[in-house]
Amino acid sequence: MPGPTSAFHWHEEVGAGLRVAFTAVGAGNLALHVGDEPDVVRGNRRRLESAMGIPGGALRFMGQTHSDRVAVVGPTTQDAPDADGMVSPDGNEPLAVLVADCVPVVLADAPIADGGTGATAVVHAGRVGVGNGIVEHAVRTLRRHGARELTAWIGPSVCGSCYEVPDDMMRTMARVLPEAASRTRQGTPALDLPRAVHLQLARAGARVEPLRGSGPCCTVENPRLYSHRREPGAGRIAGLVWRT
Ligand SMILES: [Zn+2]
Repeated sequence: MPGPTSAFHWHEEVGAGLRVAFTAVGAGNLALHVGDEPDVVRGNRRRLESAMGIPGGALRFMGQTHSDRVAVVGPTTQDAPDADGMVSPDGNEPLAVLVADCVPVVLADAPIADGGTGATAVVHAGRVGVGNGIVEHAVRTLRRHGARELTAWIGPSVCGSCYEVPDDMMRTMARVLPEAASRTRQGTPALDLPRAVHLQLARAGARVEPLRGSGPCCTVENPRLYSHRREPGAGRIAGLVWRT
């Protein structure tokens, strides 16, 4: 388990030169839209890029709006595309997704050396995104670019015991995705977004890898993670995929 001041909640070389990580509060707030001074956030991003071993400014972020849009990015595409999923067809662009309770997903195809494309992707899957199929859309986009053997990592988010919602919201979601329905520890209606995302990934043919050795993955319960529910506006953690 990473130390209390570590920038990373979990960090692993998942293949030759391919790294996946999810940040912790030790990396600071990485979002420009939650009220922090932009220069502070940019400083946090530069420190993170340094910790990742990539050039300053290389990390690609999205303009996330709970849409079902997936952007395909390359060296010449616009920065911060208006999207909630991002695909790098050759895996050469370092990708980031920002969350504080929503589910961050990282995907990667088999490396070129093993007959794959090396493609990578990140997805922002909150309640709206789980309902609008952003995860499946990202998988379809990867497959359209030739990906066949997909592995996925689901990062920290609010868990099914902490995400209390109105009863009608739970029922609406359960009509299309019964597995998303959950109960809080008090027995009130809730949604289990990580379970729903896990199922969506599995049904789309991606192999989901656990975050071995990480700390507790509920953003509400783990103070080393940012949670909008626990502390609105405190910040955002990032899901990351990059090559070194
Ligand atoms: Zn929880």
